[in-house]
Amino acid sequence: MAEAGSFADRVKQQADIVRVIGEYVRLKKSGQNFTGLCPFHGEKTPSFAVHPVKQIFHCFGCGKGGDVFSFVMEMEKCPFPDAVKVVAEKCGIPVPRPKERTPEERKENQQRAALIEIHRETQVFFTGQLESTAEGRAARAYLEDRGLNGEAIAKFGIGYAPSGGDALLRQLKPKYAEKLLLESGVISRDQSGARLFDRFRKRITFPIANESGKIVAFGCRALGDDLPKYLNSPETPIYSKSNVLYHMDRAKEPIRRQDFAILVEGYMDAIAVARAGIGNVVASCGTSLAEPQIKLLGRFTKRVIVNYDPDVAGQAATERSLTLLLEHDFEVRVLALPAIGDKKADPDLFIREKGAEAYIKLLKEAPPYVDYLITRARQMDLSTGEGKQRALNFLMPYVQRIPNRLLRSEWATRIAQQLRIDEPVLRAALNKSATERRGEVKVSPQLVGKPAKQIERRLIRMLAEAEGFKRELAQRLQRGRLYEGLETEKVFAALIVAGLSDEPIPATEIGAQLDERERRVFFEILFEDAQEPTWEEAESCLDALRRRQIEQELAKVQKTIEANPSGAGLRELLERKQELMKQLTAAGQPG
Ligand SMILES: [Zn+2]
Repeated sequence: MAEAGSFADRVKQQADIVRVIGEYVRLKKSGQNFTGLCPFHGEKTPSFAVHPVKQIFHCFGCGKGGDVFSFVMEMEKCPFPDAVKVVAEKCGIPVPRPKERTPEERKENQQRAALIEIHRETQVFFTGQLESTAEGRAARAYLEDRGLNGEAIAKFGIGYAPSGGDALLRQLKPKYAEKLLLESGVISRDQSGARLFDRFRKRITFPIANESGKIVAFGCRALGDDLPKYLNSPETPIYSKSNVLYHMDRAKEPIRRQDFAILVEGYMDAIAVARAGIGNVVASCGTSLAEPQIKLLGRFTKRVIVNYDPDVAGQAATERSLTLLLEHDFEVRVLALPAIGDKKADPDLFIREKGAEAYIKLLKEAPPYVDYLITRARQMDLSTGEGKQRALNFLMPYVQRIPNRLLRSEWATRIAQQLRIDEPVLRAALNKSATERRGEVKVSPQLVGKPAKQIERRLIRMLAEAEGFKRELAQRLQRGRLYEGLETEKVFAALIVAGLSDEPIPATEIGAQLDERERRVFFEILFEDAQEPTWEEAESCLDALRRRQIEQELAKVQKTIEANPSGAGLRELLERKQELMKQLTAAGQPG
């Protein structure tokens, strides 16, 4: 993965795996290693180890292991290039800007940079308007009325777009080409095409940042009764509605830490929830969650509580989002807030009226989506056969999308009970839908294998680390085919290839070529406390393998002789047996 001389390779050389992992896991020195509680599986006693010299980690519990990059990839749920960047940043290594290969790419990058700059300036303009103009102060009063104090306004960068129609335009026009201003989406052209004007007028503005905190769009709410109530930036080269989750730049850290996210509909909801002290909240900024948004979220957690508005549109959005989340293997709970008086409560209103604590309590009690959906189904008329069929038709698409067979089965029982439907009938329908589903349940590979024998373990360790003679050892093993048929044959094969290569190949790269089970054995061996190997020890291990090989062939010859004592090739077989016996004596006694 980290090619010699590449940036990734340089980062790996300079990064200290103990320090990087130490930012995520509390590590304690223990012998030559550092140990801690594994972040990848729940445990009470540490089985997670980091080796400072070999720069690898390994969990003796769940079997996860690798180098600093694989740790960050797993932890941040990000691809390799991003992991390299994260590690580089943590270690203070400047990240080179990606090379622009073509003039078009160069132009595109310049355009993106300029668009980001326009958004930065626009943000300064909007926040200034809220502070210092009469109109802005009226907007501020409105915000305060909605419970947003100065601190919150500053923290979330809330601003104001004035009513004039060209105040922002006048600000930006001297610096940017007209084409660029139109591309940014903050400036529009009127229908005749003759005149430019500010897209957002007389509106409260909420900056929308991408994952790395750069403002790429604005969401704006009308101050009065102007329609539409909400107006957002259009799709631009730096902003696509379906790629961005509002508040993700700030929420990603708390989401990762707590391993779940709260999903709300609008920015006001996200702000209200975040201000209640719940930082792991994001808003989809639209009525439905899009697939790229789910993938973005999935890099940080696979657990989500959906808290959309309780109106009909919100319910429909919840159900559409559920479908997608389930398809992407999320564990989903749904919070449907109770009405306040006769008002249906969104998170913003609920927290304002009932307080943060009441909200947190409900959040903790949020039922799994199964119960939410069954509750919804039970609101249908179940007194007739058709009614039941409708309820079932409503639930079935969700069931179909559950990849896990056990969960599907659990559902069937609950639906049957709750809707009073004959369970066998329901199961038949369920099985039919299950077989129509493509891609079956993944069974996790059997990770726990028999531990390799001591001789194999020693040889593997020497092949990996005995700088003085590992090449010689690899040659001897290769020539005599001594490792064939061993339980760890594949580990040997990979190490021999590495040992015979002219380039040094790090353990993690060898590990990457192995199956999960074999990599696990390999890493466990690397983490064993062991004395310095010597060539003498290597030779005695080789002898043992040689004897094993002869004994195996001998047993085979003996079996053939016994199976057919009067066969044609008996003479040759007996000769071979003699020869092997002699070899075995020459190979010495096991010692
Ligand atoms: Zn683990």
